Amino acid sequence: MKYKGSKKGFAVTAMVAAMSLAGMANAGVTDQDILNDAMTTDDVVSNGLGPRGQRFSPLTKVNTDTVKDLRPVWAFSFGGEKQRGQESQPMVKDGVMYVTGSYSRVFAVDVRTGDELWQYDARLPDGIMPCCDVINRGVALYDDLVIFGTLDAKMVALNKDTGKVVWKKKVADYKAGYSITAAPLLVNGKVITGVSGGEFGVVGKVEAYDAKTGQIVWTRPTVEGHMGYIWKDGKKVENGISGGEAGKTWPGDMWKNGGAATWLGGTYDPDVNLLFFGTGNPAPWNSHLRPGDNLFSSSRLGINPDTGKIAWHFQTTPNDGWDFDGVNELISFDYKEKGKTIKAAATADRNGFMYVLNRENGDFIRGFPFVDEISWAKGLDKNGRPIYNDDNRPGDPTASADGKKGKAIRAVPSFLGGKNWMPIAYSQQTELFYVPSNEWAMDIWNEPVSYKKGAAYLGAGFTIKSLNDDYIGVLRAMDPKTGKEVWRYKNYAPLWGGVLATAGNLVFMGNPEGYLMAFDAKTGDVKYKFNTGSGIVGSPITWEMDGEQYISVVSGWGGAVPLWGGEVAKRVKHLNQGGSVWTFKLPKDA
Ligand code: CA
Ligand code: CA
Repeated sequence: MKYKGSKKGFAVTAMVAAMSLAGMANAGVTDQDILNDAMTTDDVVSNGLGPRGQRFSPLTKVNTDTVKDLRPVWAFSFGGEKQRGQESQPMVKDGVMYVTGSYSRVFAVDVRTGDELWQYDARLPDGIMPCCDVINRGVALYDDLVIFGTLDAKMVALNKDTGKVVWKKKVADYKAGYSITAAPLLVNGKVITGVSGGEFGVVGKVEAYDAKTGQIVWTRPTVEGHMGYIWKDGKKVENGISGGEAGKTWPGDMWKNGGAATWLGGTYDPDVNLLFFGTGNPAPWNSHLRPGDNLFSSSRLGINPDTGKIAWHFQTTPNDGWDFDGVNELISFDYKEKGKTIKAAATADRNGFMYVLNRENGDFIRGFPFVDEISWAKGLDKNGRPIYNDDNRPGDPTASADGKKGKAIRAVPSFLGGKNWMPIAYSQQTELFYVPSNEWAMDIWNEPVSYKKGAAYLGAGFTIKSLNDDYIGVLRAMDPKTGKEVWRYKNYAPLWGGVLATAGNLVFMGNPEGYLMAFDAKTGDVKYKFNTGSGIVGSPITWEMDGEQYISVVSGWGGAVPLWGGEVAKRVKHLNQGGSVWTFKLPKDA
């Protein structure tokens, strides 16, 4: 059953009641369900608990007083030898959980019992090239479909009841280094996806597909100079949307393999009708090969969901020379200033600065550091552009004696970022952002490199080091109106999992040591912890069923840190792998 609702969606309650009366409780997910996801507590049908990605739930039964009694009710193992990093956010609809595992696997699980209903394994070719572990971050739900991206850069739609393939589309060529790890975004009947592969010199892009058929609707490359297209009546036509002039912010032919991978996927703000996607590093990492701003790399983009037109861009690291991918999620929120409502959005960048933007036009409102030390920039100018410390850019190898290794520098943060992929949460109750961050530095130097299809395209060497002996991870409560840190929680291992905020005055987060933890949202006091047996690098969710509040989180250590972390990887090599999803609730008599 499908219906068209208004964007604001106030007719929903009546519609839902009508559907229940008609015995449609197991109807598929609609556009309206997705738009309203943040307010409907009986399901989780979008990545981020709502297309804006605030990861805030109005549920209050589990709160600062009751959370001490939280108990696991079941754990489901992903099984097999295919453990590795588990970065998925589960979805829940009509008593079924849909969750992905490493190596492009999807599971449907009965949420009352933890019993498996079906499992889908993508048959991956030998030559896949995921840069940063064989992870997947979750599915999208639409109608009777469960849709997800694979490590060989395909989009796959499965029947929600059987797990059988309904349609499958190639998004990009895995042999050139493309892959997909992000959860797709579902907007107005379209599956919106980005691609990974910035370390292989791919060309980043955002694409829209018809969710029911898998037919492509539009494509928007994210490197200036590449043309976007829209499909009309099955025919590919130029959409008349300038991708910018080739060679304007890139020297020579460098734009042809310019990176700017859109690997984290995006968020959608129905209020301004824009998709927000971030873009990764310009390729290669050696910035001396590409003088210029290298648009639209290391940027946030506001994109029209109907056409793929870039409405605005905001570049956090022009001519990025540190792999400060600008992919991190941009989260809409409103605040009042002098009696006026400001339509803002915030993002915590890999480069160590947090930015508050006007989400209607991408204008810079304010920016501030959210880590203790930033070496590469002295600050931000009035437009939010970094004021570089020129001597903290890795040196040009062609200026060295042998032309093989440029001057090494120590840069903070490391390329794994003040914050990496792990999503922040915004509490509508405290009006604070909860930012999982890391305090680390890197030694980095540049080397000569040239593009070769399917080969790493970095032109850099590096090692990552902790700034402190006793902690790397810091969960921070940040006030977006002042830039002030309200509280912090220090963690020995680097944080790599997402955050969830609830109206129970709680913030949930997992750590690599294996604990699901709950914090008092106002003070940061630890109110609960439970060890799930392997490191948590996934993002917790909450929902309500049969009058009880549930919390779920995926456990399974891995991701980029063990593979790229240098000295930090050695520090955490005792952590055990795994692969399971845990579900918690309060005892009935609590
Ligand atoms: Ca919901
Ligand atoms: Ca990168």
